[in-house]
Amino acid sequence: MTSHVVPVLPLVPHWIGGRADVGSGKRVGDVYDPSTGKLTKQVAFASSADVDQAVAAAASAFSDWRHSSLSQRSKLLFAFRELANERAGELAEIVTSEHGKVLDDALGEVSRGLEVIEFACGIPQLLKGSYSENASTNLDVYSIRQPLGPVAIISPFNFPAMVPVWFFPIAIACGNTVVLKPSEKDPSASIWWAERWAEAGLPPGVFNVVQGDKVAVDRLLEHPNIKAVSFVGSTPIARYVYEGGTRHGKRVQALGGAKNHMVVLPDADLDLAADAAVNAGFGSAGERCMAIAVLVAVEPVADELIFKICERMARLKVGDGRCGADMGPLVTKAHRDKVASYLDSGVAEGAELVADGRNTIPDGDTDGFWLGPTLFDKVTPEMSLYTDEIFGPVLSVVRVANYDAALELVNSNPYGNGTAIFTNDGGAARRFQNDVEVGMVGINVPIPVPVSYYSFGGWKSSLFGDSHAHGVEGVHFFTRGKVVTSRWLDPSRGGINLGFPQNT
Ligand code: NAD
Repeated sequence: MTSHVVPVLPLVPHWIGGRADVGSGKRVGDVYDPSTGKLTKQVAFASSADVDQAVAAAASAFSDWRHSSLSQRSKLLFAFRELANERAGELAEIVTSEHGKVLDDALGEVSRGLEVIEFACGIPQLLKGSYSENASTNLDVYSIRQPLGPVAIISPFNFPAMVPVWFFPIAIACGNTVVLKPSEKDPSASIWWAERWAEAGLPPGVFNVVQGDKVAVDRLLEHPNIKAVSFVGSTPIARYVYEGGTRHGKRVQALGGAKNHMVVLPDADLDLAADAAVNAGFGSAGERCMAIAVLVAVEPVADELIFKICERMARLKVGDGRCGADMGPLVTKAHRDKVASYLDSGVAEGAELVADGRNTIPDGDTDGFWLGPTLFDKVTPEMSLYTDEIFGPVLSVVRVANYDAALELVNSNPYGNGTAIFTNDGGAARRFQNDVEVGMVGINVPIPVPVSYYSFGGWKSSLFGDSHAHGVEGVHFFTRGKVVTSRWLDPSRGGINLGFPQNT
């Protein structure tokens, strides 16, 4: 939402050509502290002209950066990693103050981001090509990977520190330059990253930030000098970005929304499963793309599992993330109200409301955007509780008769981001990993976020494009391959031959 400038509030700027820049746009957005409900900052919204300026800075920096040596790049990444690691606590506090997630969770987010920087430090190894000596007589063939140019990264509100880092260290390590457009709801982490890059010695223009909304996104999608777009956000916008970016000839990876199922088989350890369901359902107030939203209870486990989950939910402390709570508020009042509306519609549609988060008394300011952990039982696939990505602390139990019905439910869902199975039967788990149509699978692990040297991404409506984030797929996304066929002339091999080249 945009509003008029409030002069007493700090303004979160853009970062263009190596320095903070408030831009030429007249529009600003409001940034809240979700635990107090107070308006604490505003953020500049980029105009198309501001985006053009950032892209021009990135294009100008590209001509030198792409020729920097692998050794220079990896030294710089090491320096950046050290700075970020030393000051990780600062970044976590920024995340908590704008997103609301509790401090420990924010620190966890930062540390998962650091893992991607560590992965990118190994760029000399990752960019190694292959070489075939004497592929034909006196002829050698080798492959190299080269950067694309300026690339755009567009990120969501729920991981303001980590999600941009899935992409930018790898993009930069590969020799590209970057324009990041973070979420307008929690924009300050992006500027913190920009400052650390500058301290590490990254040349101006290699990493830029434009703040804002659709205006900035649309300009990035159509700008001829942007060569690739990495997007993370909700499915409708991911589809829009994928279609818009590819229409303008760009390489696009667009990671979308999710509805993650956790299947509990009758032989599972139900205490472990109950712990996992509570952690993955209510951590970060359910505002994670890998949160568990649907618990698929394979009968006869449902009653006992729900009892154990309720015991654990009753012990959760909801409150200000800076004061030792387990779960913080939701990101904005509008989002809180939207999530809360599912409690009414769920009841109206016939689900059983087992624990009502509206009754939770938070340990925090009464104006905060609070909604406590909520549990529904007897949810069925037609209900909006099941069909919609709610993105809040609402866990739905769907009861099914057997493994096949559980698998059918997961595979019929349009999303395919993450899923988990809880069982002590290795054969069943192995069958599930093979049969399930989802990009990331946990076996007795509820939030199976891959380590940085593997790639992160879903299937179906959870990802548009071919490439997942980070890992080797990230390196491939941010480079294009070239194959060189080379012969250093041997005087004895000259002569005219108009036929198609054959290898001898
Ligand atoms: P969102 O789609 O509202 O916003 C994402 C980005 O798109 C933001 O930068 C936003 O400014 C921009 N945007 C919003 N509306 C736009 C429009 N009409 N045109 C152009 N750009 C627009 O998502 P969000 O609410 O910030 O984040 C939550 C969503 O992100 C959830 O759906 C969640 O599942 C998803 N997510 C997915 C992953 C994943 O890896 N698949 C990871 C994190 C979050």
